Amino acid sequence: MLITQEKLTNFVTRLFVAAGSTEVVAAEVAEHLVEANLKGHDSHGVGMIPTYVRNLKVGNLQPDAHAEVIRDNGAVLLVDGKMGFGQVVGHEATEIALERVKDTGIVAVGVRNCHHLGRIGSYGEQCGHAGFVSVHFVNVVGHAPQVSPYGGRERRMTTNPFCCVVPRPGQMPIVLDMATSAIALGKVRVAHMKGEQVPEDVLVDHEGQPTTNPSVMYEEPFGAMGPFGKHKGYGLAVMCELLGGALAGEWTAQPGNPRENTVVNHMLMFVLDPKAFGGVERFHSEVADMADYLRSTTPAKGFDRVRIPGEPEQESMAERSVHGIPIDDNSWAGIVTAAEAAGLSTDEIVALT
Ligand code: NAD
Repeated sequence: MLITQEKLTNFVTRLFVAAGSTEVVAAEVAEHLVEANLKGHDSHGVGMIPTYVRNLKVGNLQPDAHAEVIRDNGAVLLVDGKMGFGQVVGHEATEIALERVKDTGIVAVGVRNCHHLGRIGSYGEQCGHAGFVSVHFVNVVGHAPQVSPYGGRERRMTTNPFCCVVPRPGQMPIVLDMATSAIALGKVRVAHMKGEQVPEDVLVDHEGQPTTNPSVMYEEPFGAMGPFGKHKGYGLAVMCELLGGALAGEWTAQPGNPRENTVVNHMLMFVLDPKAFGGVERFHSEVADMADYLRSTTPAKGFDRVRIPGEPEQESMAERSVHGIPIDDNSWAGIVTAAEAAGLSTDEIVALT
């Protein structure tokens, strides 16, 4: 199906209100999820709804929890998400960081115990739009690992996202926002739902053999995702685990820590004020000129042009805001079932969509 941004946002808001959230929380989660779809990341959009509803039902996701500062050392803050919606807690924690960085020039915020934070770029963009640089190390726990270390067969970590954002006056910030696994798990889920194969060199089967079959992540005997970029991506994933998890969140993917078939994100976020460094004007002009320099590269065979990080998302947003958001049949069926479980009637679902 193809659905407009407005219709989908309203439907998802009603769904989470029916599930027990306040109007404000439900709308914020809906906007975040739909924006992920608009930006081309269906893996982190409304396809997550069945997981969220399941976790609400069993008490692993609190429908109306908010960020709480539990330690304040000036430029270092620790915020607890109390297992609320990551979209709400993450946004609130970023607001707290943005307020503080005006005084301190740099802020490090540990944001722990969040239910799934969704698209990490959303918090980076929040900083970028306010004129600040941000860096985010995130780990993903609360369930069994899915990613094998470089050179190994068994799963030891998850898709640990990393994000870094650079502001540009009057323009969208430059946004590097990525899973450190060779592929985001949600993209494997979408391929599984559509009955498609995933690219080569991102999954291994239970014997450690490369495979393009996404079902190895969902059906026994289980395989694993690998890290992106061989030992280098693996190294970055380890740092997300240690900085996002061990330092900010206080728990990693080790077997002794909770695994309850839920999704918990811990994030270490640095926010930097360009004014605290050299000249802001110079910084902005170097960023603009370097971006132009990169874009001026002659495209390699098979490429239409060179992009800078964040541009594919802007292109997708421009296209999908006009032509609508595509949702595959299997994902939509799962969302409708979750909407019913949340408390919407079949008539309400039909009327809303
Ligand atoms: P991706 O591989 O599609 O893109 C990664 C980055 O590369 C983006 O910044 C993108 O702008 C850039 N990029 C893509 N193509 C480019 C090109 N041709 N030229 C220049 N730059 C290009 O992203 P992904 O790794 O699949 O991650 C998808 C989303 O999943 C992210 O938003 C991430 O935060 C999210 N995620 C969240 C969690 C979680 O637990 N909350 C876990 C993993 C991933």
